[in-house]
Amino acid sequence: MLNGEQKTRDILSLPGIGKKRQEDLAKLGLKSIEDFLSYIPRRYEDRSQLKPFSQLINGNVETILGTISKVEILRPKKYVSILKVILHNNSQSIAAVWFNQTFLKNKLKPGMQVIVTGKVDFRYEKQIVVSDYEAYDPDGKQLHTARIVPVYSGSEQISSKFLRDVIYNILEKYLLNVTETIPEEIINKYDLLKLEEAIKEIHFPSNWQLLKRARYRLVFEELLLLQLGIKNLKKQLINMVGISHTKEKKLTDSLLNSIPFSLTQAQVRVVSEIGKDMEEEIVMSRLVQGDVGSGKTIIAAWSLVKALAGGYQGALMAPTEILAEQHYLSLKEMLKPLGIDPVLLTGSLTLSEKRKKLYHILQGDIKLVIGTHALIQDEVIFRNLGLVVIDEQHRFGVKQRLALQEKGLNPDVLVMTATPIPRSLALTLYGDMDLSVIDELPPGRQPVKTYHIMENMRQKVYNLINREIKNGQQVYIVCPLIEESEKLDLEDALRLAENLKTNIFPQFEIGILHGRMGLEEKEQVMARLRTGKIAILVTTTVIEVGVNVPNATVIVVENAERFGLAQLHQLRGRVGRGDKQAYCILISDPKTEEGKARMEVMTQSGDGFYIAEQDLKIRGPGEIFGTRQHGLPDLKIADLVEDRLILEEAKNLAEQILNEGLDIPKYQKLKEAMQIKFYKHSSS
Ligand code: ADP
Ligand code: MG
Repeated sequence: MLNGEQKTRDILSLPGIGKKRQEDLAKLGLKSIEDFLSYIPRRYEDRSQLKPFSQLINGNVETILGTISKVEILRPKKYVSILKVILHNNSQSIAAVWFNQTFLKNKLKPGMQVIVTGKVDFRYEKQIVVSDYEAYDPDGKQLHTARIVPVYSGSEQISSKFLRDVIYNILEKYLLNVTETIPEEIINKYDLLKLEEAIKEIHFPSNWQLLKRARYRLVFEELLLLQLGIKNLKKQLINMVGISHTKEKKLTDSLLNSIPFSLTQAQVRVVSEIGKDMEEEIVMSRLVQGDVGSGKTIIAAWSLVKALAGGYQGALMAPTEILAEQHYLSLKEMLKPLGIDPVLLTGSLTLSEKRKKLYHILQGDIKLVIGTHALIQDEVIFRNLGLVVIDEQHRFGVKQRLALQEKGLNPDVLVMTATPIPRSLALTLYGDMDLSVIDELPPGRQPVKTYHIMENMRQKVYNLINREIKNGQQVYIVCPLIEESEKLDLEDALRLAENLKTNIFPQFEIGILHGRMGLEEKEQVMARLRTGKIAILVTTTVIEVGVNVPNATVIVVENAERFGLAQLHQLRGRVGRGDKQAYCILISDPKTEEGKARMEVMTQSGDGFYIAEQDLKIRGPGEIFGTRQHGLPDLKIADLVEDRLILEEAKNLAEQILNEGLDIPKYQKLKEAMQIKFYKHSSS
């Protein structure tokens, strides 16, 4: 940790960094000195062995020291230039070559001693194709060669080599100012490197052994801070007096009587866990985890109705406008028999609509509010908010969760997620929450048959669509979202819809739904879809989460390779919600191995946990168990899967520390570091 002034000090004062560089670095997230210090190398290259020329092995990457004798430029072909330098050492010589870098000619002078790293190539003559070079420093200060060299993730503008130079300079200047966060006794007990040494070694390791210990120290600290943060939240919650919601069952029972199904055993269990929490005078903080289609909406509805039954207000927050609308529409229908009329609060309301709603929320005559993060804006004031439900948690950060919670006097909080996380990991990650799992799908569900179809087999897909619609079913066709160009994306979808209308299915009604439509327009489309008027709905990815039309039996995903596994699984979850056989057709000509692997996983399995595991294998753990998805602070170095043993240690230690009290002086630095990491981050 550096002190506050240094943290924000302008990096413009560093050698080699001007305005342009500063901007390019900022794009990599490197804005402050602190950012650089915690910018962990992606990998390392061992260039520590300087080999005699006679021991070089053809085809290997090697590092050698030599004196330059001759420098020349060759042009074997029109667009190829070769800078060729003869290196001598102990009466042996080798040619060092650079491709298309003739500008180096001015830097490499005869007589100069250089160290070069590159691939040895003996096919034509004894030569080494240089990937990195550095002038020899008699004081042994080599950054890019003759050591274990850090390789950083750069960008088109910023090379790893440049970063190496900058970070080296920063270490020289600021390393001494780094103050230790972990008290001495813990350092000793766990045999940790000091922070200062760990930072130095993680960037410029003296040897592999110390690198390992440096990484251990930094992972340990990061996970300790994470656990302290999570457990601290939990402790605050436990010490708060919460609302004791009514035990009166009349209203919740009439909800259960009015829906056209009875709850699964898993749902009954989850509802009773929630009910118990709500009735007690604690602040509920519970995570409900259930795969796509497992029936989380009714759980949310039940809980909200329970809060309302005792006279409290309830709020439900969803990550996207379309999902908020969808919840609004389905809850409105579900709760009509009970005389409960929810309102929708999103960013796209007109000012006067909004004012009116805000007024009635404040007065308390609006009992149930559904919305996006518009709900957590300052202007939204509740009269007596008793329960907050957050859907699809992984898109919100801890901060947003807290913000909504603060809208009431310690309201209960229920978070719902479809992200499958192994239980042990979930308990650690959501250490501040209790966990309920819906581990059972509603009865009568048949697995969705999933096919991967190449573009040239499209006609077959149309045949299937035709058959299903004639049988009275409905169809989704999803076009992928191209992030850089929402517009193009939309055009794609519109063109596809037009083509279907005029050339392929003129006999069917085709609807279109996309993010740029107004609420009313969307509502109309959704209503026509729900009542079966629309046979085929062409959409951009707006239906990804939450849309519920049990009569739909086919989902076609265009350019399926553009979607991640989790997303495809979510999309597939839009069908198979009734008792008819459903189909998911992935249209794709995957070009990468990863794309092919994804198609294969999807056709093999319908199990969210399995798919998450495979996703893990294909993409690596960072992405899936990445903390961003779970709304926790970003981890810079720790990997929740690989480092789970350290996580376990950190968890136990965090417990001990909190028992002693985080406010005692020896933990002051640790506490500060935790607060910075945990609360000053927002991700969404
Ligand atoms: P998700 O967990 O993905 O949010 P939903 O709450 O949207 O799932 O439920 C999926 C579908 O299953 C909906 O059509 C819902 O009405 C239905 N459903 C939920 N619970 C049951 C149940 N116990 N029996 C039958 N159908 C159910
Ligand atoms: Mg849902």
